[in-house]
Amino acid sequence: MHACILSIGDELVLGQTVDTNSAHLSRRLAEYGISTLYHQTVADDRPAIAKAIDRACRDAPLVIISGGLGPTDDDLTRFALADAIGMATDHPDRTVELQLDQPSIDQMQSRYKSLGRPMPKRNTVQAMKPLGATMIENTCGTAPGLRATIHDALVFITPGVPREMFTMYDRDIEPVIRELLLDHEPRVIRTSKINTFGTGESNVAEMLGDLMARHRNPTVGTTVAKGYVSVRVRSESNDLEHAQQELEKTIALVEAKLGSIVFSHNDVSLQAATLDILQAQQKTIATAESCTGGLLGKMLTDVPGSSAAYLGGWVTYTNDMKTAELAVNPELIKTHGAVSEPVALAMADAARTRTNAHFALAITGIAGPDGGTEDKPVGTVYIALAQHQQPTTAKRHQFIGDRETIRDRAAKTALNTLRFQLLPPHNSPA
Ligand code: AMP
Ligand code: MG
Repeated sequence: MHACILSIGDELVLGQTVDTNSAHLSRRLAEYGISTLYHQTVADDRPAIAKAIDRACRDAPLVIISGGLGPTDDDLTRFALADAIGMATDHPDRTVELQLDQPSIDQMQSRYKSLGRPMPKRNTVQAMKPLGATMIENTCGTAPGLRATIHDALVFITPGVPREMFTMYDRDIEPVIRELLLDHEPRVIRTSKINTFGTGESNVAEMLGDLMARHRNPTVGTTVAKGYVSVRVRSESNDLEHAQQELEKTIALVEAKLGSIVFSHNDVSLQAATLDILQAQQKTIATAESCTGGLLGKMLTDVPGSSAAYLGGWVTYTNDMKTAELAVNPELIKTHGAVSEPVALAMADAARTRTNAHFALAITGIAGPDGGTEDKPVGTVYIALAQHQQPTTAKRHQFIGDRETIRDRAAKTALNTLRFQLLPPHNSPA
């Protein structure tokens, strides 16, 4: 079964508020195998809302709408619902009348009474329902919701305030949906996300090959965010166990194709995944950072319990600090520059020997916007990894983007360098 989700409000189309309600609703509907056909965001504009409701009701048997039920002049969803009902029933006025719902006005009045305040007169409009619609009680706010049937589609309208929307969905909408589903062939959707770092989206897509074919079930798609490429797998079936089995099979295929660039599933971060491996191997890490200014340490300590593997580190931003704190030879800096392989190696070595950690990561680079040269343009970053009884290694990287992006990618690449080092040899990248 399909659903359409509408969100109503000027603040949403202006970009002042991000529409989180639709995302939440789609996730909840997916639990019952209901696929969302589309999300549509509409301004507080009565004809536009009416048209959107009309179209959604032709497109899917279930329509959920949030927003625009308040008492102010810009809250127009109930009037637009009246118009949509009028249009669908060929009413000569192309709208239907609004009627006062006595139980709703009683509930609103008792709610205000319990708050010790008189009910503002303009709130009365919130107790008005279009002919043919029914009210849904609001247990945590004043504006009741609305329910109607248009072109055989079931329409629910909730207030826009997320908490009120969630509560109404749980209490009054989901049970109806469950009942509705009894008349449909059951569909179950299971989803998972496989996270990768270190390769661009088109490369990942290339590696996945046929797995990304549109007609496939489970479907496989990619999304990029903050330097990570995530592979989304979505398995649909009329049987829960089958959906889960197929999901797991596809996950295994994706992992086989992508190999070591996969660092986690679902919401596990790169730092958490890396710390997990360190901890499993009972190894420790220290850091020495220049251009990232402690970002790597911050990322590691974002993970609760990171002290089991992360010992601590240095932020040596100036040349003098590199020398004073990490004994980097000033001659080395003079000859090669602070952003250079020898300096990165020296920083990593000092951080490791001074903490006695198994590993130490060092980062030195040019985050910009100034300071780049022809040889070392903005985005040049050296990352070194020192390890117990192994040669220290360093690699030059070239990141693209603004200061924030360069620093972010540098810290993540450092983590990934360590993660690769921790993988069993056959799993290491080519
Ligand atoms: P409304 O019910 O339209 O008066 O919306 C009340 C408030 O809820 C708005 O001012 C927004 O802050 C919030 N809101 C409305 N719609 C959404 C939405 N789709 N996602 C997240 N917040 C919303
Ligand atoms: Mg609004």
